[in-house]
Amino acid sequence: MYYIKDIIKNINLVIGCDIGCSYCYARNNCKRFRTIPDFSIPTFFESKLRLLDNNKHSAYLLTGQSDLSGWKDNWINKTFEKMRQNPKTQYIFLTKRPEKLNISSAPENAWFGVTITTAKEKVRISELFENVKANHYHLTFEPLFEDVGKLDLENIDWIVVGTETGNRKGKSISKREWVLNIINQAKAKKIPVFMKEDLLGIFDENEFIQELPKSFLGENL
Ligand code: SF4
Repeated sequence: MYYIKDIIKNINLVIGCDIGCSYCYARNNCKRFRTIPDFSIPTFFESKLRLLDNNKHSAYLLTGQSDLSGWKDNWINKTFEKMRQNPKTQYIFLTKRPEKLNISSAPENAWFGVTITTAKEKVRISELFENVKANHYHLTFEPLFEDVGKLDLENIDWIVVGTETGNRKGKSISKREWVLNIINQAKAKKIPVFMKEDLLGIFDENEFIQELPKSFLGENL
């Protein structure tokens, strides 16, 4: 079984987010390590752009400690410029507020996704398509608070499913049937699915499906 962080490394170009999810581990990390004084004010670490030149891994997550909707336009433009200089590497963004984005010319190697935790949040899929014109789209279902029901997975290139981690009071544990509902719909559309390691215990190791888009498969795997 793979740990997703061993395959897709984080480069935290931006730290901070004002969405305020109760389960946010990034905010807790920030408090613990005092990376920035106020997590609700996103901060751009421009000097980290050079890390995008590291092609040791085939894919990097750029929003591990932020939400793309909190990035300023010039931060996005500078990041896109660097991504275009590294066309073989894939760069992944996630958001919970796709309605706030306005991206009309993303680099070919950019992957844009939304997080969905409830059935109501499925609207984020169409909002993502409306506001971000890109070549690759993905979805993350983590944490899950309920069965998300039927999904429109047209033009989705990758799906990640997990469960809430940490020790939060009121923590939501994904139910097997919620996860299987998502996986079965993805399989019907032949979309690669990655079950995160946190699902171990809810699923046996031999039930794990850990698929990646072809362009994420580097020499390390
Ligand atoms: S969107 Fe992400 S970074 Fe922002 S508060 Fe929620 S979990 Fe934290």
